Amino acid sequence: MVKAVVGANWGDEGKGKITDMLSAQADIVIRFQGGANAGHTIVNNYGKFALHTLPSGVFYDHTMSIIGNGVALDIPGFFKEYGELLSRGVPAPKIMISDRAQIVMPYHRLFDQYEEERLAGASFGSTKSGIAPFYSDKYAKVGIQVSELFDEPRLREKLERVIVTKNILLEHLYHKPLLAVDELMETLKEYREMAAPYVGDVSAYLDEAVRAGKNILLEGQLGSLKDPDHGIYPMVTSSSTLAGFGAVGAGLPPYLIKDVIVVCKAYSSAVGAGAFVSEIFGDEAAELRNRGGDGGEYGATTGRPRRMGWFDCVASRYGCRIQGATDVAFTVLDVLGYLDEIPVCVAYDIDGEITGDFPVTARLERAKPVWKTLPGWKTDIRGIKEYEKLPKECRDYIEFIEAELGYPITMVSNGPGRDDIIYRKVK
Ligand code: GDP
Repeated sequence: MVKAVVGANWGDEGKGKITDMLSAQADIVIRFQGGANAGHTIVNNYGKFALHTLPSGVFYDHTMSIIGNGVALDIPGFFKEYGELLSRGVPAPKIMISDRAQIVMPYHRLFDQYEEERLAGASFGSTKSGIAPFYSDKYAKVGIQVSELFDEPRLREKLERVIVTKNILLEHLYHKPLLAVDELMETLKEYREMAAPYVGDVSAYLDEAVRAGKNILLEGQLGSLKDPDHGIYPMVTSSSTLAGFGAVGAGLPPYLIKDVIVVCKAYSSAVGAGAFVSEIFGDEAAELRNRGGDGGEYGATTGRPRRMGWFDCVASRYGCRIQGATDVAFTVLDVLGYLDEIPVCVAYDIDGEITGDFPVTARLERAKPVWKTLPGWKTDIRGIKEYEKLPKECRDYIEFIEAELGYPITMVSNGPGRDDIIYRKVK
């Protein structure tokens, strides 16, 4: 049984919490794309953690946590996080790193930073974790696979070739220090020593696990609207954020992904640049930001304030569709308990035309929100375990959004903790 947990929006929907929760029944949890450029915040019996690279299943001793081939693997970052877990009393998780995963090189981080500096005002708002230069190199076929760490002569020969073009850019475009092969080889030897005990053939491992009837969870990073194909290109991330890519980025047959749990947040937030139709500003945004998530909507990787908005039915319906949602997990609903009325964006006005269809980026940038206001419930809904015990206005809000989405909301998250969840039978 393979399930995917992915985002409907711009990321930060609470996927980490849902994955941590569902990991109780999972044998294997796999990250299949992305890198250390986004964070999952998890609150459980060990405390509060911000994970960037480790799969969110690492808190259980029965799960195997896997870095799939589709991930941008930051080896020192990965082991720093791993060490932090142990130092805070979490039992050593079982981990496996795909021999086909590629490595975020020190120069990927540098190029990310230099390019953002060069673009200045026109920058993408990158977290400077090296993700765009990493995936550029991967698809330009000059990336370094984990397996290559174990063949030094081949690695050296490859690096000598790869850094020629990098040094031209460093010298003439960025005016920065050049790369040296010897130094890079030393760094990669350290990476090899760290990773070696955990490297394996992940697709073969998964094949056996599937035959043995194991439960497998694919954990996505960011959300539909940051997908390079279907999102708000070019203000997207550099790897596919979609459940469909889970098969590729983990090494599994696509038809095995039976459940696609799309995590959708009860209001909107986004980081980085790009069109955000239901965005709000000023005091209204500041209040939602400060009350949002668990202790405020500030980036788990960068600490920067997130852009805030009300729920966007157009973007979220599209986000669920493009993921192929079988279930929607509707999260952070408790945060809205302070509002008398809750605005929801139900359509876009693009050059006077009203539409419920999510447009391509050029049209999206001209879209204005069409609002509908729903009544608030003005109570704290944390701690409630049964759907029927939620205030009527709160159920109405959920059911209005479910009808707008056209996909079943089977889980409602009303707090950051593992147990803050209400299951709903709607199928
Ligand atoms: P992810 O990247 O999708 O895993 O999301 P983040 O971890 O960046 O952001 C979600 C934030 O909301 C985290 O701080 C979570 O602890 C918190 N969170 C998740 N679900 C809920 C919820 O139902 N209610 C509240 N109040 N916070 C939640």
